[in-house]
Amino acid sequence: MRQKLVAGNWKMHGGLKTNQQLLQDVVAGVAGLRNVAVAVCVPFPYLAQTQAVLSGTPVAWGAQNLSEQAQGAFTGEVSASMLQDFACRYVLVGHSERRAIYGETDSLVAEKFAAALASGLRPVLCVGETLEQRDAGKTLEVVFAQIDAVLARVGVAAFSGAVVAYEPVWAIGTGRTATSAQAQEVHAAIRAKLAKLDAGVAEGLQILYGGSVKPGNAVELFSMPDIDGGLIGGASLVASDFLAICAAAEK
Ligand code: PEP
Repeated sequence: MRQKLVAGNWKMHGGLKTNQQLLQDVVAGVAGLRNVAVAVCVPFPYLAQTQAVLSGTPVAWGAQNLSEQAQGAFTGEVSASMLQDFACRYVLVGHSERRAIYGETDSLVAEKFAAALASGLRPVLCVGETLEQRDAGKTLEVVFAQIDAVLARVGVAAFSGAVVAYEPVWAIGTGRTATSAQAQEVHAAIRAKLAKLDAGVAEGLQILYGGSVKPGNAVELFSMPDIDGGLIGGASLVASDFLAICAAAEK
């Protein structure tokens, strides 16, 4: 039985004052939850604050990006070991906004995935197709190519230390959610692809769905057999919504 995971992606939102309240509300709200793992991925400057509030609570934390480099003259970058200094458990890699806006390629994402693993972080590998690609019938081709780049770099066994998030680009921040059937189809295909290489790794892999998950659609999405929780953007900024989604993962 895979444990469900609900991870918030705050993106470039927050401030010291509002974070404090949000983090405290999340900690208070997850107290009654037993079967779901909860995490928040926050902007780099707030890792210290997040660590201070969440240490000793059931809520884990992480970052939204990292450098593929270990250290050196890479102005503006943040390394995996720096994230380790703040006891991060997770780090997003290959979020569609990083791919689309900052030009991250499949091979760069694979390097970042490897760097995260090498430092003991759990990379959350984000994959997903654009609307154009879906309409052209290329969803699995695109998603599989994104995964193949990582497989080629680290091998299938490495996925036992990772999480995959299927996030159709057309559903992120748009209010348009994939139907539970559309998401399940892709999740099952990802698991089947990995199962051909290692059945045990595939069976244990948490595959999250992301893209306009809200309290109103979370129960149905999370009831699908291959959807192991969610990566939550906008709704993770509102404690009551995020907590309702976490509660939906317990059902
Ligand atoms: C995300 O940023 O990963 C995401 C899924 O965003 P939203 O929930 O706002 O669509």
